[in-house]
Amino acid sequence: MVRIRNLRKSYGATPVLRGIDLDVAAGEVTCVIGPSGSGKSTLLRCINHLEKIDSGYVEVNGELIGYRRRGDKLYELKDKVIARQRAGIGMVFQNFNLFAHMTVLENIIEAPMAVRGKPRDEAVEMARELVRRVGLAGREDAYPRQLSGGQQQRIAIARALAMEPEVMLFDEPTSALDPELVGEVLEVMKDLARRGMTMIVVTHEMSFAREAADKMVFMDGGLIVESGPPEEILRAPRQERTKAFLSRVL
Ligand code: ATP
Ligand code: MG
Repeated sequence: MVRIRNLRKSYGATPVLRGIDLDVAAGEVTCVIGPSGSGKSTLLRCINHLEKIDSGYVEVNGELIGYRRRGDKLYELKDKVIARQRAGIGMVFQNFNLFAHMTVLENIIEAPMAVRGKPRDEAVEMARELVRRVGLAGREDAYPRQLSGGQQQRIAIARALAMEPEVMLFDEPTSALDPELVGEVLEVMKDLARRGMTMIVVTHEMSFAREAADKMVFMDGGLIVESGPPEEILRAPRQERTKAFLSRVL
């Protein structure tokens, strides 16, 4: 489903991704862990082409993201095509990023109507179902500021799902939340995993990784240093850098 090969990305002279290879099969959940500055957010941002890449490639469902290939060269796609590709890749950020001046329902129906051309009544029907799924039925007319952080994040997930993405990317979705609100967001994510969503999740919530992830990837210095089943990485990391990192966070 997601195929990344030799992905490289620098900011100016500073290499941030130094040759990433990653495969995530359909329906699989991959957790990405690693120290601050290791390139986790940049990796997610390259997957949906919020960042240009220097070399290598990202494919989702066999389709090259952000570029088209001619010979051995890659040329950036037109904005319209990139927007269409992005619509199939849901992204949930640390800070919710809901539209503050829109209600819950308006937040969710906006993109399906504007980008997918969904009729309003269909978009509303789907939004209501998603709001129910994330446990917030009855709050459709609330504004983001009237919701807790955990509720806002659940709506942010619902909003991403409204685009019927093929894959969902999460960048530390619970790290801005008060500890007592983390669980409700992780429950929604576990439910999504059980329903077979393909997910790449940057998180240091090891309980989530253990329970929901098929694979864990440890990044350091712009490289994947180690990867494998979460219980193996957590119980018996092979690389010194992984050991040192886990001893700090566990
Ligand atoms: P964190 O755990 O703190 O979120 P991360 O693993 O997500 O870290 P990234 O945000 O991907 O790390 O950043 C990787 C490196 O790239 C860092 O050294 C960062 O300073 C640098 N970087 C990220 N974005 C930019 C940018 N827009 N311009 C210049 N440097 C950047
Ligand atoms: Mg980050």
